[in-house]
Amino acid sequence: MFYGAGMSLSQTHARIEPATDHAIALAGDMLRHGQLVAFPTETVYGLGADATDDRAVAAIYAAKGRPSFNPLIVHVADLDDCAALVRLDDRARQVMTRFWPGPLTLVLPRADNSPVSLLASAGLDTLAIRMPDHPVARAVIRAAGRPVAAPSANRSGAVSPTLAEHVAESLGDRVGLIVDGGPCRVGVESTVLDLSTPRPTLLRPGGVTAEQLEQALGEPLACPHQDPQAPKSPGMLASHYAPGLPVRLDAVSAAAGEALLGFGAMDATLNLSPAGDLEEAAANLFAFLRRLDDSRFTGIAVAPIPETGLGAAINDRLRRAASPRS
Ligand code: AMP
Ligand code: MG
Repeated sequence: MFYGAGMSLSQTHARIEPATDHAIALAGDMLRHGQLVAFPTETVYGLGADATDDRAVAAIYAAKGRPSFNPLIVHVADLDDCAALVRLDDRARQVMTRFWPGPLTLVLPRADNSPVSLLASAGLDTLAIRMPDHPVARAVIRAAGRPVAAPSANRSGAVSPTLAEHVAESLGDRVGLIVDGGPCRVGVESTVLDLSTPRPTLLRPGGVTAEQLEQALGEPLACPHQDPQAPKSPGMLASHYAPGLPVRLDAVSAAAGEALLGFGAMDATLNLSPAGDLEEAAANLFAFLRRLDDSRFTGIAVAPIPETGLGAAINDRLRRAASPRS
């Protein structure tokens, strides 16, 4: 555990710090050490973690009490930071130049060797990315020196926070530091635009309007609700990332040809957490599913995972991976 200057070991409440240079440097330090830091953006307060650190990203889901692994938005401070994370084409560059920094998230194909945790994108081959229009948010990301995954800084199902106090009320000591930048200007989440598909698709309305986007792109947006052929937002799909191999749940052992994905003390092809730690298991889940999705095996058998804490999200994801393919 990392403790910043002046932070007491017995502290149980979130520490709220005005957004001074000192607080921003501390936030960067904590993020680099895998800790969670809440910070303001122009939309709502975000609960940030180092997007390249599986364990730190797992801690976001644990702190929020999310029942499933919705893919997270990865935040960058500068346009140049994107190229290593996602594949950019002319269409993406055009929209970024016009609307960033701002309340617009772009879904783009992951770059080869993208350093972003697979858990951050819930195992997808695409990544949601945004440059926020808030000086404190960008200063914190720059201080961290790496991309920052940040969903809204509230417990799952609660209202998004637009004040530092809202974050403290909702998350308490689940967040190490809250950088206070006053009230959020926009107050609703970003627009999510999918540019990984041939037709640009609006996945979530938000701060940038569909009309503005259509004008900039010079073509109409596909809307997942009107166009059943278009991909929907992954959180709404029964099966959004499924391995190629069949997945069998609650397995006590592997059948002939199957790989066994273990949990807790047991022999397995790969073990999500030999110690039975659900945060470690969440951090490993998508990377391990990919490694086992291999023609050496005929299927993936998965050991039972307890339904407590992050186990609910892990099991939700596994049930989707095991559900019949369309
Ligand atoms: P939030 O957690 O409130 O910031 O919401 C993130 C939104 O972005 C959700 O609606 C996600 O479904 C969407 N999203 C994140 N990553 C992706 C992705 N790779 N593909 C499509 N939608 C995404
Ligand atoms: Mg939210």
